[in-house]
Amino acid sequence: MSPEIALVDCDSFFVSCEQLVNPSLLNKPVCVASNNDGCVVARSKEAKQLGIKMGMPVFMAKKEFPQAIYLSGNMNLYGDISDRVMTKLKEFSPVVEVYSIDEAFLDLTGLRRMYRKDYFKIAIDIRKTIKEEVGVPVSIGVSSTKVLAKLASEKAKKADGVYRIGFREITEELKKTDIAEIWGIGKNTTALLNKYGIRTAYQLTIIDDTRISKLLGKKGIELKQELTGNSIYPVSDKYVPPKSIQKTSSFAKFTSDESYIRNSLNYHAHRACRKLRSRGLKTKTIGIMLRTKDFKVYYQKSQLIQPTDFEFEAQEVIKIIFPDIFIPDIIYRSSGVIFEDLTEQTQLSLFSSVQQNFKTSKLSSAWDKLEDKYGRGIIFNSVPNNFI
Ligand SMILES: [Mg+2]
Repeated sequence: MSPEIALVDCDSFFVSCEQLVNPSLLNKPVCVASNNDGCVVARSKEAKQLGIKMGMPVFMAKKEFPQAIYLSGNMNLYGDISDRVMTKLKEFSPVVEVYSIDEAFLDLTGLRRMYRKDYFKIAIDIRKTIKEEVGVPVSIGVSSTKVLAKLASEKAKKADGVYRIGFREITEELKKTDIAEIWGIGKNTTALLNKYGIRTAYQLTIIDDTRISKLLGKKGIELKQELTGNSIYPVSDKYVPPKSIQKTSSFAKFTSDESYIRNSLNYHAHRACRKLRSRGLKTKTIGIMLRTKDFKVYYQKSQLIQPTDFEFEAQEVIKIIFPDIFIPDIIYRSSGVIFEDLTEQTQLSLFSSVQQNFKTSKLSSAWDKLEDKYGRGIIFNSVPNNFI
């Protein structure tokens, strides 16, 4: 049985999230800007139609397209909605690979019988469910390999949101597809292949392996296999723990107020600990960062004897290392907390008592439950809005 893979991709994800919490933004030209460099990172359909380009500096876009709405990004919101999308997707297939904040691969192989409908109709159901139950639009590409599913998802955006490339349709489809449209083929590779007269994806699948490997290496051979419908890259739901967790934010106003800055770090520590707990991880290295008005960065870290996922412990460490980097009278623009050396196992060291460990884990999980129920920041209700 050949595999059947779906790529679910949220449409203009950041903008869709903003529209979900603020419906007055619907059907308007809306752009979301990146935090640091002020570039456009997401556009609504209407903003695209105006001619606003991805990556355009916001000040330029504002000058040229003053009629559009420009929002600064809210990664917490996008992360929450992304989690909701991914959780929903897991109801459709036990094998879901979260590929990015707004994309996931689903292995649908063999699910036709269970759902009593064909793969195309299953994808339509998934799309409808995500729209109705989470509230964001998605496009879905379905085919027998990841590379083809990705291609189908691009075609889905121009079709009605769902597109399937069946095994027998592959050749026809590839003849209509420019190689630049293939996942993983960038500008340089396109230029190189064009030089050898290779313009369509189909042409790539008929060159012999020696030549393709000369041009693109091992990846080229794999790509050719994937394009012809032989799945090389499986959908993997194996969880890869992150190497580090970072929580940073810019202050609403530049400041040199010590308690304000300490407070922001404590809040980042809380958010980072929450993330650790949701992933079943603990950190062994806690770092703090302060960025000045002139973009100078000060950083200090401390190693723990015993890994933790508990904010009070992290905040104790921050209290100790904060004076190492904080200089009074300097004006700061942003702060951040960085956790490194993340571990999954809970190893008790000689220095900790089992009872203490039990207490903190109970307290922090109660904390998480409270936040799940009443919203982020319920405990830190004195924290200024820009940290939330
Ligand atoms: Mg997307």
